[in-house]
Amino acid sequence: MARDQGIISWKELPLGCAILEPGNAKDLRTGDWRSKRPVTDYEKCIKCGMCYIYCPDMCYIPKDDGLFEWNEYYCKGCGICAHECPKDAITMVEEEK
Ligand code: SF4
Ligand code: SF4
Repeated sequence: MARDQGIISWKELPLGCAILEPGNAKDLRTGDWRSKRPVTDYEKCIKCGMCYIYCPDMCYIPKDDGLFEWNEYYCKGCGICAHECPKDAITMVEEEK
């Protein structure tokens, strides 16, 4: 893509929205980067916890009933949870605009 198409190099991105220091990821609302979100079908869920284990952003919170609650604040929509779920209980759906 050419610069005259409005696309700039990552080296030209303004500072202020990057994870630059160890441990500062929690300060950033990384969920704003998401274009898709995971939706769980709790009827299929066997409470194995694989989504909780594999999510790189710790977006699943164990609940007292053994199910996992999703945290949209940090979820970047990578789809790893949906890929790793052994029961295909998680579906990635487009974010609404
Ligand atoms: S990986 Fe799938 S089946 Fe396992 S706890 Fe998560 S949603 Fe449920
Ligand atoms: S889509 Fe990625 S970041 Fe979001 S909950 Fe699943 S594994 Fe975590």
